[in-house]
Amino acid sequence: MAKCPVCGKPSAARAVNEAFPFCSERCRLVDLGKWLGEEYRVPVHSPDEEEDGGQPRGDQDDRRGEGDDHHDT
Ligand SMILES: [Zn+2]
Repeated sequence: MAKCPVCGKPSAARAVNEAFPFCSERCRLVDLGKWLGEEYRVPVHSPDEEEDGGQPRGDQDDRRGEGDDHHDT
């Protein structure tokens, strides 16, 4: 049985596994991302990722006129 090149788990046979030689579509995408320069990230973020409720963010007060060069013509 083939091994998934990404996670090392055994991959199912091609006949029953569209992602062959990877064990899953997810691993196939991970490998694809590597070939694309690792810029592509597998969409694994969950909807409840927003956990910054209460942490004060100072970035927005620290702007120094950025985006100030738009012209009103
Ligand atoms: Zn895998």
